[in-house]
Amino acid sequence: MSMSATIDNGVPILDLRRAFKDIRGEVHTAVERIFDTQAFILGREVRTFEEHVEAYLDLPGSGAAIGCASGSDALLLALMALDVKPGDEVITTPYTFFATASAVTRLGAVPVFADIDPVTYNVSLADVERKITPKTKVFLPVHLFGQMVPLEEIAPLLKERGIKIVEDAAQAFGSWRRIGKEIVRAGTLGDVGCTSFFPTKKVGGCGDGGMMVTSDPELAARLKKLRVHGEGSTYFHEEVGLNSRLDALQAAILDVKLPHLEAWNEERRSLAAYYRLCFESRGLTGPRSGVPAEEGRITLPAELEGNYHIYHQYVVRTPKRDELMAWLEERGISTRVYYPLPLHLQPCFAFLGGRPGDCPEAERLSREALALPIFPGLRAEEQERLVDAVAEYVRTRF
Ligand SMILES: *Cc1c(COP(=O)(O)O)cnc(C)c1O
Repeated sequence: MSMSATIDNGVPILDLRRAFKDIRGEVHTAVERIFDTQAFILGREVRTFEEHVEAYLDLPGSGAAIGCASGSDALLLALMALDVKPGDEVITTPYTFFATASAVTRLGAVPVFADIDPVTYNVSLADVERKITPKTKVFLPVHLFGQMVPLEEIAPLLKERGIKIVEDAAQAFGSWRRIGKEIVRAGTLGDVGCTSFFPTKKVGGCGDGGMMVTSDPELAARLKKLRVHGEGSTYFHEEVGLNSRLDALQAAILDVKLPHLEAWNEERRSLAAYYRLCFESRGLTGPRSGVPAEEGRITLPAELEGNYHIYHQYVVRTPKRDELMAWLEERGISTRVYYPLPLHLQPCFAFLGGRPGDCPEAERLSREALALPIFPGLRAEEQERLVDAVAEYVRTRF
């Protein structure tokens, strides 16, 4: 059988060049504009992009989007603005990118890990509730792989206890959830929402970048101050902040990309639907979505009722994950593991006393999760090639 040259070269886990070719001209124009002005830090370009994000997220009039240097800094700044201090507890998930928890420990506060829900891979709200103590200051949910945590289920309880919410929406920019009659975008439900413009995120810059959003004008003012060394007026420092600004160059490029976000997210959803069709029609799926799979079966990601999942990653689970991954790699198909070691078991957090068995669902998922290629420009024949290879694996092995 003959296939196209690209196919013979393998299926990449991610190829950003495919979406870039459509916007190349616009990006170059934007970059030239910045070089002509020679104004590189914050300024009009950054403010314009912030305004466009405010409109996109439909923030209330009191709301603000505040650019900063990275998603990691956005989390750190948000916790600083909420006065998280040494000894305070921040409840979060162990199944996330490292930065979620390092923002907490940098402030001397204590990340308290609640286990995950095995169906959505997001933090289990029931376990979050169990982990609340008088020291809990913030709940830091992560909208993992592009799907929102149903925050409305726990927000009233947290409010009652005076616990703030900082959303880590680094993987979920543009994702939303229907709550009653309302569409609520990831990052807009908590006290502060944080996102990342790392090149592989849903609106990706040509380097690092991040953003915080809030509907609280006082918090917004504090965040703006904290990103410029806590400066009130020039060279007068009211508190010690960070040097964490969004570059004008990044802002200009991100502003070119933002109008494409909806179409890119729609495309990711179509790709996800096509994976489902292919896996199901070949009889490869387990009995239902989300639950741990049986041997020789693939569990597909589940979309929680009311959620608009944007599939930042398309993560399936299968018990002999490493074996399947190697099988695909031998056939030129790249996959990735997000995340091989939950945060409560990371060496740098050993001082927190986490042990195997503390978060059994997260630990199990870390052995079973496999992320498949999903990105704008991924071709149907590439998806089919992957699913065919999985089918061959199952036929041969089981
Ligand atoms: C990417 C990411 C971050 C950090 O963003 P950076 O811009 O890379 O610093 C934080 N949390 C999650 C869940 C992420 O995926």
